[in-house]
Amino acid sequence: MKKNYSPWLYQLKQDREHQSLAKDEETDVAIIGAGIAGIATAFFTLKYTDKKVTILERYKLAHGATGHNAGQVVSYFERGFSSLVDEFGLELATEGQKSVEDAWQLLDEMYTDAGLNIPFARFLGHAGLSSFEHVLLHLKNNLLRKQGGLNIERLLILETVDFLNEIPKEYDGLYSTTSKETLQDLLETKSHDFVAVLSYQKGCVNSALFCQEILTYLLDKYKDRFALYELSPISKIILRSNEAILDAESHVVNAKKVVLCTNGFSGFTIINETGLEINTKFHHLLQSTIGYMSGYLEKMNKPPVAISYLTDPDPSTEKPYFYITRRYYEYEGDKDFNLISIGGPEYVLPEDGHYSHEHEYSEEIIGEIDSFVKKTYDVDPNKKIDYIFTWHGLMGYTKNRIRLIGPEPKNKTLLYNLGCNGVGILPSIYGGKRISDFIGGKEVKESIFDVPKEYL
Ligand SMILES: Cc1cc2nc3c(=O)[nH]c(=O)nc-3n(C[C@H](O)[C@H](O)[C@H](O)COP(=O)(O)OP(=O)(O)OC[C@H]3O[C@@H](n4cnc5c(N)ncnc54)[C@H](O)[C@@H]3O)c2cc1C
Repeated sequence: MKKNYSPWLYQLKQDREHQSLAKDEETDVAIIGAGIAGIATAFFTLKYTDKKVTILERYKLAHGATGHNAGQVVSYFERGFSSLVDEFGLELATEGQKSVEDAWQLLDEMYTDAGLNIPFARFLGHAGLSSFEHVLLHLKNNLLRKQGGLNIERLLILETVDFLNEIPKEYDGLYSTTSKETLQDLLETKSHDFVAVLSYQKGCVNSALFCQEILTYLLDKYKDRFALYELSPISKIILRSNEAILDAESHVVNAKKVVLCTNGFSGFTIINETGLEINTKFHHLLQSTIGYMSGYLEKMNKPPVAISYLTDPDPSTEKPYFYITRRYYEYEGDKDFNLISIGGPEYVLPEDGHYSHEHEYSEEIIGEIDSFVKKTYDVDPNKKIDYIFTWHGLMGYTKNRIRLIGPEPKNKTLLYNLGCNGVGILPSIYGGKRISDFIGGKEVKESIFDVPKEYL
């Protein structure tokens, strides 16, 4: 059995001091949770408002999903664009998709303002599709993207497939054909499983390191109105009409607004003194899934890339798929490494199940990942791969797989920027900006990220 050992936490400063809450505090905006959502919310609230901001973290900065993810910067949702259109209509779905794509600029803004120089690569990422059904779904997505005014995703279909003549005419111009050699080169595989490749802008960053560096910048720039308290769990939130009281065990924090960036709703209760119940619905809101990853190092010999392998021909299945990310990586002071990280295996926790970072990482999961790598990506039968890093993290899925961003309708003192949903770096950053707009009193339009009506 392996332990939970993440390449992202490995790169954090091990001697950074963790200041915990040592007295009662008053603040304008209390943010609970110091993952990428909490840090981005603090960044934009500090930049675009004059509010005092305090982050409270139960453990340590970026040690939640932010320190245990795949670190791909991607702008898709864990559901197709066409299903967003079915649920919300073309206009709202397009706005939602555009917001996440525009978060690339927000990420740049954070990176540039803070003068960062940590590795952040951008490239064309690829997904291998294995059936006509997959192809049709992405053609439909592309058609709707075009109708909504979004860029279409490049779709290359194998020129020898037998379904070429069955592709409906309405999709003309939304794909091209390609040779098997090109398709296999793009997917970096010799596998014959794939009939098409979908390509779109992706990137990679160590999101935990990113948080650490942004934190350093914020602490320096906003000395008089920003604080982070780690090792300071919040067990109870009492909401009044214009303030919240947070119970941090031996101390309390009084805040005008409180933003949950907790990636879930476990470990604390919410009491809404203004009336309607908020607390009980939450525990049914998120489905918790553990995502497992492994990573190995090679001497740097290839550029960064991110590739997903959708080998299940049925696109409607929610079964996990394998995906790799290759990036430049510094290890033991040597910058000349490629880290190849692989994700795929998942485990859905029962509703009353508890996730722990110490949760076991079984040999069986390493075996699953290894046999995928050997079959699809790094196929030399004589090569023994040493998975230096093996890690897992909690993915909290909202019911509709869309991040929850905005005020709680029953009491606007409380706001949310949460719901990991498997893809969360860009949505968290967009969420941070959107929350700062609410807090700054800007007019904020209705969106797909609002608390869904069925939750009310
Ligand atoms: C295996 C895996 C792979 C992933 N791959 C990708 C990817 O490639 N690309 C991508 O975009 N996204 C990916 N994600 C999702 C992404 O990592 C998350 O969406 C994102 O990191 C969530 O950030 P967050 O700040 O909302 O949550 P977290 O990073 O989990 O932070 C929440 C914080 O809240 C704190 N907290 C909770 N309750 C309390 C409390 N009561 N008091 C005080 N503090 C509290 C926690 O300790 C934690 O630090 C992946 C996730 C996993 C698990």
